[in-house]
Amino acid sequence: MFSPSKNGSAIRKCICNARYLSKRYNFLSKLRQSHRCNVQARHCASVSALQRVESYKPGECIHGFTVEKIVNVPELYLSAVKLSHDATGAQYLHVAREDSNNVFSVAFRTTPMDSTGVSHILEHSALCGSQKYPCRDPFFKMLNRSLSTFMNAFTGSDYTVYPFSTQNSTDFSNLMSVYLDATFFPKLQEQDFRQEGWRLENEDNQDPTSPIIFKGVVYNEMKGAMASADSLFATHCQNKLFPSHTYSHNSGGDPSCIPDLTWQQLKQFHASHYHPSNARFYTYGNRPLEESLQQIDTQVLRRFGKIQPDTVVPDEARWTEPREAEVYCTLDPMAADPTKQTTVNVSYLLGRITDPFESFTASVLGTLLVSGPTSPFYKALLEANIGSDYSPVVGYDNSTKEASFSVGLQGIATEDVEKVKDIIQQTFQKVAVEGFDDKRIEAILHKIELSQKHQTTNFGLGLLMALLSCWNHEADPTDHLKINDMVTSFKHCLENNPKWLEEKVEEYFLKNQHRLTLVMKPKENFQQELDDQEAQKIVCLTENLSTNDRQTIFEDGLKLAEEQSKEDDPSCLPTLAISDIDRDIIRTVVDLQTLNNVSVQHCIQPTNGVVYFRAVASLHTLPDELLTYVPLFSSVITQMGAGDMSFHEFSQQEDLKTGGLGVKTYLCQHPESIHKLEKGITLSSYCLDNNTEEMFRLWQEIFLRPKLDDVDRFTTLVRMNASDLAMSLSNMGHSFAMSAAQSNITPVGHFSEIMSGMMQVKFLKSVAEMQDMSPVLQKLQQVSRHVLSTENMRCALNASPLFMDTASLHLERYLSQLPGEGAAHTACMQDIQFNPTMQKLHYELPFPVNYVSRAIEGVPYTHEDFASLRILARLMSSKFLHREIREKGGAYGGGASMGTSGAFTFYSYRDPNSEKTIKAFSDSIQWAVDANYSQQDIDEAKLSVFSAVDSPTAPSSKGMRLFSSHISDEIYQRHRQQLLAVTQDDMVKVAKKYLLKGDKMDGTALLGPANEFTKGDEQWTIKKEE
Ligand SMILES: [Zn+2]
Repeated sequence: MFSPSKNGSAIRKCICNARYLSKRYNFLSKLRQSHRCNVQARHCASVSALQRVESYKPGECIHGFTVEKIVNVPELYLSAVKLSHDATGAQYLHVAREDSNNVFSVAFRTTPMDSTGVSHILEHSALCGSQKYPCRDPFFKMLNRSLSTFMNAFTGSDYTVYPFSTQNSTDFSNLMSVYLDATFFPKLQEQDFRQEGWRLENEDNQDPTSPIIFKGVVYNEMKGAMASADSLFATHCQNKLFPSHTYSHNSGGDPSCIPDLTWQQLKQFHASHYHPSNARFYTYGNRPLEESLQQIDTQVLRRFGKIQPDTVVPDEARWTEPREAEVYCTLDPMAADPTKQTTVNVSYLLGRITDPFESFTASVLGTLLVSGPTSPFYKALLEANIGSDYSPVVGYDNSTKEASFSVGLQGIATEDVEKVKDIIQQTFQKVAVEGFDDKRIEAILHKIELSQKHQTTNFGLGLLMALLSCWNHEADPTDHLKINDMVTSFKHCLENNPKWLEEKVEEYFLKNQHRLTLVMKPKENFQQELDDQEAQKIVCLTENLSTNDRQTIFEDGLKLAEEQSKEDDPSCLPTLAISDIDRDIIRTVVDLQTLNNVSVQHCIQPTNGVVYFRAVASLHTLPDELLTYVPLFSSVITQMGAGDMSFHEFSQQEDLKTGGLGVKTYLCQHPESIHKLEKGITLSSYCLDNNTEEMFRLWQEIFLRPKLDDVDRFTTLVRMNASDLAMSLSNMGHSFAMSAAQSNITPVGHFSEIMSGMMQVKFLKSVAEMQDMSPVLQKLQQVSRHVLSTENMRCALNASPLFMDTASLHLERYLSQLPGEGAAHTACMQDIQFNPTMQKLHYELPFPVNYVSRAIEGVPYTHEDFASLRILARLMSSKFLHREIREKGGAYGGGASMGTSGAFTFYSYRDPNSEKTIKAFSDSIQWAVDANYSQQDIDEAKLSVFSAVDSPTAPSSKGMRLFSSHISDEIYQRHRQQLLAVTQDDMVKVAKKYLLKGDKMDGTALLGPANEFTKGDEQWTIKKEE
């Protein structure tokens, strides 16, 4: 439900597969931090998915489809079949792989010719009810009737895609039925358009005298997205580099254009774009292809003929000279240096993405140019310390029919724009002469090999997103699967012509006239101007309204609210039953040993020849005042160099031998007590079996001879970190609000606020503002003395059966070299003396939307009431908060959760309201106590919780629940039984005991613009940026 390519979507970052040399450098680095690896469950069918597919013959007809070709790709353990539907021309790609996490998607080429957000609003409205499933919001309802591992929809610049994944076969056909009906036969009623798109309505829909304003889910979503400077920049960049056709518009919708869209136009757009002749179907996994083909043919395709969809994107006419443009954004009060908020970027139009080798080459070249400390642009731009980080669009981008490459800087002084432009030009000139170090090319090819072997649980989805852009423009997607062929050709080209890449640099960049220099500057009253524009638009639309018209607007508002409050009958929708949930967990065998007096967990798994290493180093000896430095320590310690290696050399070795060395902060509450916790850092890395010794050698250098003395390097890293964190505020505002709300409730909440909440944002900002950062480096040296030893360390290894012993020997040798005596205990749980307090905090920030959260003290994981609170949170989210906060309130999202931090937490995301939302939180508690819901509602909440509980885990992550959360299989199995056993009475009891009574610790936090209600209430503490 997000516009991925234009809005800097978090979602796309999560599912992008690193194997595809990520489209943008940013994706790769963020992927490393945020990627949660899971397990790939494998089931052995009697005839394997691959064998079945390999028996097909080109020309063979199956359920109205004709097989075009079958392609075997051994390096990815898959076979692909390409088919087309005879009667409609619909295209189909099936990827067979021994993976039970099956994927389905249907995608349409959507090429809007304006910025009304028509494709995005259609994406939302299609999910509001369909012919066969006429209930309201079947999509959200299915989230609770399924065990899906993924359900979503995205609008890109030129496609709209509806994917899901699930491990359950009945679930697969249920979901497919709902998706097919939603996309091909949606009701698209006027009220859906008004709810999801835009409408005029009284600010208070109960009060006809309150001002008339714009409302609508997409309207607010895009207001939020456009408030983020990086989304805004990315949108302008694409619009201006491709000025002649669909890419010149904002497919997500520009809030100033969205009100130009009519309901009729929306329906027309559906008829011309969501047609089988303009559709691409994709299935992935071990489920038989025939079943999917039959269902799609019967349910949809038989009801259509063929049309000629007018959706082809023409090539952009090439410029004869470069262009420049200047745009504005809002001033960022969180910026480390307020005088440095300008962004400059140069983008180049490249060749078509449909040519597999050409796009492979361009993406490798893009990575060589900008990725990692050894790349020429990193050295020339980032190390020059002119700006805070790369510009928001950087590297090779294949999300448009013709690819582009961008490079630039953000966080610079306006007078440095020319300097940056000169550096960019000079760097290309230098590279065109000197070329690239062979070791760097080798490192990239190593990364490709490693990522092919590294298994993730969302492989099928990652593959879809990687193939969709080129397939969308008539490329044969199977050509883009043959990675090994491309690597081989790449090496051949280099052998035949050692200057080949230099010539490419000449062709793509130095001689390329189709290049855009885009400058974005902050403007004092930028947000005010947008608000004025919006107000003016409202005046235009309302000034000539008669009293009658105004009455109609008021009544329409009431009508919609009434519709939204109506009890709705979801019984038309298919559902799984509680009996479809497995009673028992699949247990993981781990073996605990002591190596060099350090506790090591061994977990033998089919890891495809990759070794996974993790360690936790406890911080319980660290003085409290150093705690706030730990996140900075974690993020720089592997990036400063170590031993005799400069940071360039270290990074080179990392890329040549491993998938990267990661250090993160770690906080874990004891499963049995809110007042016991473990604070620490985690180390993690993986590598091909034969590089294990080198991987540990790199860790050893960091432990024995860390380099925490290079102030220039440190300054660069601090600025990048600070700008990253400040940027994440508008994308992840709800998690900052949740952290702030919990900060005075539980010890884990308290420490996580210090290490990753608003307190950390402010701390990092203050460091970034320092003229001389050397005192901070001294603090990090103190941290390193506490952390970099075996004293408080425990480790885990996941490796294949044949290699585990060798891996363990390497680990033992590594541990024997480290300082410290070892601890040989499993965890360093501390009893925390903590005085919780009630507080209400408002962080005043210049966002057009709010992020609201409330947290109430709950119970630890093993407590008998934990399962009831967890199901209750889910029930309140789907049956009450979703309706109040999203449907009626117009927020992008909202809900409640009971996590392992010990607090029951409410939240809202990109929310136009704050006071109303806080009231909705309270009302939901009364609603829970009144228990006006059915057994089906309870079952749905359980299914929804179990789709999270049973999400697949990759071999690399098996055993990690025990290692990282101290939750053994026994505890986990007990929790499962408790979840299954939760009754309505249990939930009423916990709602009263923990939420209603008001004797538990309670905190509220709001991130958002100044408002009257917190100002007028002395219970609120208001924090402003000075
Ligand atoms: Zn959306």
